[in-house]
Amino acid sequence: MRIVVLPGDGIGPEITAATSNVLRVAAARFDLKLQLEEHAVGHASLEQFGTTVRPGLLEIVRSADGLILGPTATADFKDEHSGEVNPSKYFRKSFDLFANLRPAKTYPGLRNRFGAFDLVVVRENTEGFYADRNMEQGNSELLVTPDVVISLRRITRHCCERIAHAACKLAMNRRRHLTIVHKSNVLKLGDGMFLDICREVARGYPGLAVDDILVDAMMAHVVRRPDRFDVIVATNMFGDILSDLTAELSGSLGLGGSLNVGADFAMAQAAHGSAPDIAGRDVANPTSLILSAALLLAWHGERRGDARYAAAGRAIEDAVAAVMREGRATRDVGGDLGTAAMGQAIAEILQSDRASAAAAAR
Ligand code: ATP
Repeated sequence: MRIVVLPGDGIGPEITAATSNVLRVAAARFDLKLQLEEHAVGHASLEQFGTTVRPGLLEIVRSADGLILGPTATADFKDEHSGEVNPSKYFRKSFDLFANLRPAKTYPGLRNRFGAFDLVVVRENTEGFYADRNMEQGNSELLVTPDVVISLRRITRHCCERIAHAACKLAMNRRRHLTIVHKSNVLKLGDGMFLDICREVARGYPGLAVDDILVDAMMAHVVRRPDRFDVIVATNMFGDILSDLTAELSGSLGLGGSLNVGADFAMAQAAHGSAPDIAGRDVANPTSLILSAALLLAWHGERRGDARYAAAGRAIEDAVAAVMREGRATRDVGGDLGTAAMGQAIAEILQSDRASAAAAAR
């Protein structure tokens, strides 16, 4: 498996280094022929090549089996014509990575104020309020006068159907409960269609329990009883906001893994941003990207029918849980490990058999 690794900006280089360390250990333990190939993206690429995503990078990534994209300084990149492309949007759009899977769960041993839970937010990734990916050309935010802006949201039957199927399939492999999050009382056409299609698609999955909640009420429900939820499906922006909340409810944004999946490509990405406020200080939590990389291995294994990759993905998740169980963690979740030390702790458990023992004991 050849994976392209793009470290990105802010805490990106630190958390991708910790992730690559864990992947190398996983490869050795499960006898995977894993090749990690690093390239510049974001500010590093802008300085070197005059653009945040250099020409030719897309083909390099296309020829690989998966991509790990570190967080990039999206807010800094304002003008595409000057080479300031948002790398995250660029790869999601180029590979039509329509399903963004964002698991959030609590860990024994780690403080959490909202009770134990284990859920996944399935976020539509290719349209909605994201002005930079709605159009074939141009942008769906319009400056009408210097004081008036119109932001357009695109919702299509095709995108609703495919995200609904992705969520239903996932739920069938978990606790068989799907919650549809929407705002169909106000966005009657767009979210009305999203809700109707999700319900219609879900009817094709026997045994799947389905409910729906308005997005504003959802903020209260998920804080009050996160354990009520299994798989939650939402349009792009609602899913983005909700998944930051669920990651933080689980202990920290730094625990939020994220896999962007299309028909034949997948990209692992942390759910959070480049966190410039803590960059370069070896304090960021690398767990988010490490868990995302584990999801990427599992996705690859399923496609190739190679159980070793799924086993490696599970072993990484178990090693993360085992480190937390031992009370070792980064500062954001009350521990005192640095970024590199956290990656190393996970790698060491992965190398030994302690993770399997902990998993077996569960
Ligand atoms: P960007 O503009 O790139 O999205 P941001 O700082 O606006 O950056 P996030 O990067 O998502 O948004 O960060 C939000 C908050 O969560 C910040 O206080 C940040 O320090 C914290 N945070 C984000 N990721 C991590 C992490 N991996 N470990 C610890 N704290 C994190």
